[in-house]
This record gives sequence, C-alpha cells and structure tokens, in this order.
Amino acid sequence: MDQADRDQRHTRATELASALADEGVVGVATSFVDNAGISRVKTVPVGKLPDLAAWGAGFSSAFDYFRADDWVAAPASGEGPVGDQRIIPDLSRLVVLAAQFGWAWAPGDRYEQDGTPHPQDSRLLLRRLVDEWGERGVTLRTAYEVEWVVSAGDGNDFVAAAAGPAYGLGRLAAVSDYGRDLLEAFAAQGIRVEQFHPEYAPGQFELSVSPEAPVASADTSVLVRATIRAVGLRHGFRTSFSPKVDPAGVGNGGHAHVSLWRDQENLMAGGSGRYGMTPDGESFAGGVLAHLPALLALGAPSVASYLRLVPQHWAGAYVCWGLENREAALRLVTGSAGSEKWAANLEVKCIDLHANPYLLLAGILAAGADATPLPEPVDVDPASLGDDELARRGVARLPTTLRESLDAFLADQVLGEAFGQPLVDSIAAVRESELEELGSSSPEQVADASRWAH
Ligand code: GLU
Ligand code: MG
Repeated sequence: MDQADRDQRHTRATELASALADEGVVGVATSFVDNAGISRVKTVPVGKLPDLAAWGAGFSSAFDYFRADDWVAAPASGEGPVGDQRIIPDLSRLVVLAAQFGWAWAPGDRYEQDGTPHPQDSRLLLRRLVDEWGERGVTLRTAYEVEWVVSAGDGNDFVAAAAGPAYGLGRLAAVSDYGRDLLEAFAAQGIRVEQFHPEYAPGQFELSVSPEAPVASADTSVLVRATIRAVGLRHGFRTSFSPKVDPAGVGNGGHAHVSLWRDQENLMAGGSGRYGMTPDGESFAGGVLAHLPALLALGAPSVASYLRLVPQHWAGAYVCWGLENREAALRLVTGSAGSEKWAANLEVKCIDLHANPYLLLAGILAAGADATPLPEPVDVDPASLGDDELARRGVARLPTTLRESLDAFLADQVLGEAFGQPLVDSIAAVRESELEELGSSSPEQVADASRWAH
C-alpha cells in the first residue's frame, strides 16, 4: 500500500464517516480472525474513520500466537512481543450493525508498518489464493453454514433456552421474537439468508446463506456470528458456537459449501463425471479429499473439535465422499432435478466454527488446486460397513485427535507452500499450546473450557 492508496482511502472514508454519523453511527469496529478462530477488534470514533482507513490501528505481532483462551503461545525465537501490524478496514464491506446500535463494522486486513501485506494475515492469504484460481480462469463461490445453541442466562453451564423438539415448529414458537429479530438484523445488514431452522440438539439452530466470492463468504460468516451473539444478548441468551457444547450431545458444525465456475458455467454440474461433475470439479473434490486430514488442523482446530467429529452425528468423520451422504466428510449436493446448473456444490462437513474461516477456505482452495483422482463414492453410512469393508474400499477415519491432524498439516507440502513457513509455524505453535492445555483433559473439561470463547 503506497501513499496514493492511503490518500484514496482517506478521501473515501471521509465521505463515509459523515454519512455514517448522519445515520447515528458513533463508533467503527474493525476486526481480524486469529489462528485460534477468535475475532480480535479495534475501534475508533466515527470521526477517526479516515485515519483508520489510511493508516490502520496497531496490533502486536503477538496476536499471531493468541490461543482461544487469550493465552499467548510465545514462539521460541523470543520475538512474540516485538513488532506491530496495522489493521486496515475494508471499506467496501463496511456495514452498520443492526443489533449493536451506534456501531458500524468492517473486516480488516493486516499490513506491516511499511504498507506491505502481513504475511500471516489470513484474509490477505485467501485473497491471494482466489487470485491464483482466477489466473487459471476459475472463480469460486462459497458459503458457510452456522450452527449454534442458545443458553439461558449468563452462567457457564449450558441451559437450553429454547424448548421444543429437533427441527420442531414448537421450538421456533418458543423463540419467535428472537428469530424475527435475527432475520431483521440479517436483512438490514445485507446478509442473504437462505434458511433458518431449529437444529437437532437442545437449544440448537442453523442458518444458511447464499454463496458469494470466498473472501466475502468468510466476512459474512464473521458478521453472521457477531449478529447472532448480539441479538441473543438482547433476548437474555448466551450463544455458543462450540463444536461440542454438551459432550453427550450432537455438536455445532460449520460446514463450507464450494462450487467452481468457468465462463459462468458451474463445474460441479453438467459434466461427464460422476453425478454430472466435470473433470475439473472431480479433481478439485479429489484434492480436497486427499488433504482432508491436514485440513482438519484448520477446520477442526481445537481439542473440542474432536469431541464433535465422531461417526453417526452427521459430522462427516470418514475420509470419503458421497451424493447427499451426511456421514461422508464431503457431501456432493446436486440440488433438485433441473436446478443442478446453479445449485450443485461440494459441502465440506467435517469442520466447525472454531476455525478461522479465511484460513480454512485458503486451505480448501490450495488443496483443491492439487488435482487428484476422486475415488468411488460411498452411498451408505460408512460406520455401517464394518472395518473389513472400509479397508477394502480404502476408507479411513479422519484424525481423531488434534495431534494427528496437526502432524498431517505439518507434513503437508501443498498447504505448507501455500501458507508459507511463518504462518505454518504460528498455527502450529497455537495448536501445540492448546494441546498442552487441554490435550489430556476429560471431554467434560474440554467442553467446559471451550464453550463460550468463540
Ligand atoms: N450438527 C451436525 C454437525 O455437527 C450437522 C447437522 C447437519 O447436517 O446439518 O456438523
Ligand atoms: Mg445442520
């Protein structure tokens, strides 16, 4: 970023600030997501937005080593507390927050003080990988689903705040004011909602949104969660996005939907491959499948993630794919007959909302670029096949611990090259530190420790 960029941002933000102030905005927040999946924020009074847009706000380099519980996993080099990045809001995504009156928010990118991109910034990394796909003539459309539970009051224990059965109309009636306020807030913020429904577990809900360009979809995921949290507070609810709120129950997933497009044509449909995939669509899915164990260090990044990732919980615990198979880690969704051309996509199911959504999509894009033949699909619950048949079909369980997926990530050259060594090292430091803290705790202790941070 040079002086001309800064001047341009300053001018644009000056216009924006006065329009925002007219709308009653008092403060502007900008945040980035750290390696542990936590959004870290800086704010300025609205009149300071031009300075923020041009020069950013400082964040210590130590933020690359923050754990979800705010412990800093200092690197052995001793450089943790030394250095400063500047977070610069993306004004094109600035939005007035509907459930935090007087506030606006924009996702931020982190730059070095000399204006070069911070090599560990996950949003800039994702943008770079999207550009690389663009150079190959392919654009991507992605969307994150969000599952969460609402808890009554502000205690640490989970107390389901919405009674009623799984997917039940009764549960919706129990929170219809909350549900309406959510839909209103999403609409006011320009979030295109596809569906909202009560999910399986007690007090659990799910929201799905329309696909967008990858960076925009990760921004949306951050904004959706901030909105759910804020609307919940207005209704006296505490919100948990943790993969396993109750160790005995069904977890919260954070599935990603991905489709590839060339010349306005969806490469997941209309082709000569299985279920209509094109060869490019198949080899993308093959690449993601082959790298899934390593991708889990990004998409199931906490010790709690592995409490969720178990068979027969629709979490996708096996390294396989299948058409509309909710027990496969990759579920091919073709849509209804006639809608395939726009609806077909690949759903990555084995991931949760402890993930940094930018890092995870960056990993998926890098893995998918490593074109790999796609094996035969699995069209039953893999857990029903038994060990011998699973072995015959070459279907393995995904890693069952963070240790295993971290080892797979560290051994993965494709992801290593895409991310660069400094980022691989800081991700590993954060995961190692979390393992040290929680790796030998009981499921109850892990669930308790992980319930409210994200
Ligand atoms: N709650 C499930 C999970 O942990 C997903 C349920 C669904 O398929 O929507 O991922
Ligand atoms: Mg669901």
